[in-house]
Amino acid sequence: MDLTDKAESKCVVVDCGICGSPGAMESIETDNFTYGSGDDSVVLSVLVPVVSCSVCEEAYTGEAAEIIRDAAVRQHLASL
Ligand SMILES: [Zn+2]
Repeated sequence: MDLTDKAESKCVVVDCGICGSPGAMESIETDNFTYGSGDDSVVLSVLVPVVSCSVCEEAYTGEAAEIIRDAAVRQHLASL
């Protein structure tokens, strides 16, 4: 019996957006990205869905990640 419990990192099986394989795994991971440049740059940390595919061996973020990053930037600007 397999009692491996990975409740902390919940994965969802999705279709791979690159090769179309139905066995890709989507998980929520921390993504740190830099916004701005020079002295005004800040590192923003967000949780984004990352799809990793064992068939084409790609790991990538999709449109949802862009929206989440955009929201983090707006939140940062609002807090200035
Ligand atoms: Zn793939």
